[in-house]
Amino acid sequence: MTQTHTELSRRLVAGADDAPAILAPDRPMLTHGELRALIAATAKQLHTLGIGRGDRVAIVLPNGPEMATAFIAVAATAPTAPLNPAYRADELDFYLTDIGPKAILVAENETGPAVTVAERLGIGVLRLIVPPDATAGGFTIDGAAVGPQAAPAMAGDDDIALLLHTSGTTSRPKLVPLSHANVAASARHIGATLGLTAGDRCLNIMPLFHIHGLIAAVLSSLASGGSIYCTPGFNALRFFLWLSDARPSWYTAVPTMHQAILARAARNAEALSAARLRFIRSSSASLPTQVMAELEATFGCPVIESYGMTEAAHQMASNRLPPGLRKPGSVGAAGGPEVAVMAPDGRLMRAGETGEIVIRGPNVTSGYEKNPDANATAFAHGWFHTGDQGVLDDDGYLRITGRLKEIINRGGEKISPLEVDEVLMDHPAVAQVVTFAMPHDKLGEEVAAAVVLREGMSASEGDIRAHAAMRLADFKVPRKVLILEEIPKGATGKLQRIGLAAKLGLRS
Ligand code: ATP
Ligand code: MG
Repeated sequence: MTQTHTELSRRLVAGADDAPAILAPDRPMLTHGELRALIAATAKQLHTLGIGRGDRVAIVLPNGPEMATAFIAVAATAPTAPLNPAYRADELDFYLTDIGPKAILVAENETGPAVTVAERLGIGVLRLIVPPDATAGGFTIDGAAVGPQAAPAMAGDDDIALLLHTSGTTSRPKLVPLSHANVAASARHIGATLGLTAGDRCLNIMPLFHIHGLIAAVLSSLASGGSIYCTPGFNALRFFLWLSDARPSWYTAVPTMHQAILARAARNAEALSAARLRFIRSSSASLPTQVMAELEATFGCPVIESYGMTEAAHQMASNRLPPGLRKPGSVGAAGGPEVAVMAPDGRLMRAGETGEIVIRGPNVTSGYEKNPDANATAFAHGWFHTGDQGVLDDDGYLRITGRLKEIINRGGEKISPLEVDEVLMDHPAVAQVVTFAMPHDKLGEEVAAAVVLREGMSASEGDIRAHAAMRLADFKVPRKVLILEEIPKGATGKLQRIGLAAKLGLRS
């Protein structure tokens, strides 16, 4: 089905003409009406430049209002593939070859590897021109035509809106196409879960080359008629300035960001007391219950933990705002798609039984690109298999017990690294922890952990192991505890257990 501009932009950008849509530090705002006009103008420019319906466009732009706007405006015509602007030539070569775009959209003054690699691969280079007096997110697109002028046609519901690679936490990143229908369903689910309205404003600190920022922050806000304050990306120092300037009603982030914010909270009491957050959202990795409690006490608002993944256009389950239930340690109840737990033989399990988390619903991708093996495993028994292990309770609330690929196999004894994390987090001096498998000659794998201590507190490796030994069976106690200044993270701020031992040079 082909839809008109008005239908598509009304669905993605649902606010009143004069309602704020995009804001950014030191820039006049762009309204919902102006954003819809920009979507229509961009479609015309793209058609003139030879980009038609179905022609893929990779976007390599710094985080900010132009990136958010370009994603929405280009996707209305053509499938977009936002890429991390920090990628080097080899990475860009891999991602661009995998995606196969007709053009790449870069900043006006971009001279880095994105341009040279695109030229080498025969991909057209389009540039985003931001006039000096532009409103937040305002731009035009310039460049040599990449093909004959395309016939104007809008994307339809089943056309791809977004192509993203998974974070690569457990294996080589997989390419996930998401249709307009997938993306719109997810944005609606998130808006409904959080009760988003035209009065809400999200402070975006998430990277806009990842599903969490694109859908949970940007699209759910705009599709609910609200606004989004687009920052250049996470910075724990500037976070408190943005809080004062943007006056947001919420923000969403990964747990490592919440922890960095908490570490600076005491020094920003004034900004904190002026903040009027309705709630804080956490997703993309497990939120330690101690961090949730500390955030709620510091900001005086509920913290909503949700469960998302690229293949589901983000949200699968979520806790609820009061008077709904929120359960620390749980990622909440189904937040859009159906959520169930499945045994290896395809049997759906009952509450209290642990198995693989499976989902199905309008937000789920129709399948990985060029990866029949991954699709055969992922879509077995009529449900999408998340690769995560979990258990539902009698209220339908889900607890994630680990990722199937991250389970540590110590000579046949299976250990959930999340369980060990939870115990180590309870040590008063521990601020952050990641438990992981370390190669072992006889056992295959052995348990290790890396921790960051709270500022001004001290603890030795022996102290932390002794604390673990009081709460865990001997085989689960980490043989090695590394005390670090910082734990290496992936591009989206996620801690990566797989490959961490090699990164830290560990072997027992
Ligand atoms: P790859 O699939 O390439 O290994 P990835 O799974 O990390 O990478 P994403 O799609 O960004 O890529 O992340 C989705 C995963 O993040 C989920 O499958 C789950 O393991 C984890 N996750 C998301 N939200 C939560 C949460 N609230 N608690 C625990 N884990 C979560
Ligand atoms: Mg994954």
